[in-house]
Amino acid sequence: MCNMAYKAIVGYVGCIDARIHNLTEEWLSKNFGSGMVDRILRAGATAYGNSVIEEVAEAHGLHHFPILVVAHHTDCGKLSSFGRDAHIEQMRAFARHIHEEIPELVVQIVLVHTEEQYVEVIETLFDDSEVE
Ligand SMILES: [Zn+2]
Repeated sequence: MCNMAYKAIVGYVGCIDARIHNLTEEWLSKNFGSGMVDRILRAGATAYGNSVIEEVAEAHGLHHFPILVVAHHTDCGKLSSFGRDAHIEQMRAFARHIHEEIPELVVQIVLVHTEEQYVEVIETLFDDSEVE
């Protein structure tokens, strides 16, 4: 089983929107090193809830990444009614569900600013290493 040795550095849940891909790829490689990112791309990122969580669980089971980045972006066509607070609230709810499924996974929430082209880190959740 040659893929047993492969471990991803980070999992990434983001939107399919092409306007943010260059930016998020650059940000991921700057923060986590290049390559080794398991990407789960859906319209609206977390908008499909449970099916996305299933995919994350499957990817994590295969590649054991220790951290998951959850990225919504402003001006998202799928979440067009969402302001900043709604994005953060939905990402937090998604993170809590992920935490129930995969307690050891650290989840980082970010908001990608589509027009301004920058990535805002909102918070990092379930990182026990600093508490202990
Ligand atoms: Zn979008």
